[in-house]
Amino acid sequence: MELQTIPARFGVAIKLDLGSEIVVTNTHGTQVLDTWAFSMSDPGEYMSMEHTRSRLSKLSPCAGDSLFSNRRRAVLTMVEDTSPGVHDTLLCACNQEIYQELGCGDSHRSCESNLHEALSTIGIKVSVTPAPLNLFMNIPVASDGSIDRRPPESRPGDSVTFKAEMHVVVVFSSCPQDVTPINGVDCIPCDAHYRIKH
Ligand SMILES: [Zn+2]
Repeated sequence: MELQTIPARFGVAIKLDLGSEIVVTNTHGTQVLDTWAFSMSDPGEYMSMEHTRSRLSKLSPCAGDSLFSNRRRAVLTMVEDTSPGVHDTLLCACNQEIYQELGCGDSHRSCESNLHEALSTIGIKVSVTPAPLNLFMNIPVASDGSIDRRPPESRPGDSVTFKAEMHVVVVFSSCPQDVTPINGVDCIPCDAHYRIKH
């Protein structure tokens, strides 16, 4: 499959068959990609950050780790990661209310709206916004339990490869956050890219 674009500030939904692999690339190096995966046979089963942390006994997955569903089954496996491996599982997706808190009014795009908009393009509707795997998002946790929000440590062209452990729909959102430096110090959301490996 040819390289496909995840447009800056927008989301895409991609169906993956069991065993297929997808490579997602941080083309410009600074873009956080909120990532979800739902079972195609029952979208009520989805990749769960809570269950993934519990199964892995760590805060964030590394290459070789699977990511687990709310029913404790492997959904995706992170088979390769060329980035420094800094990803976040703790923070929620940005939503309309967060942008209102930041003084952006009520029309700012968000990862939450990107998720539901992308799913609607393939006829899937879900009533929840699960906690996403925040690829490339740099949220250091201090020993006192406090967290910080820093620009990504990833570099242009860094990529993560996932293998589907069930028939899933994966959603990537190019995070529209342009107020805080979570997408780099320039605060400019960028395109990212993906390719399905057969
Ligand atoms: Zn976001």
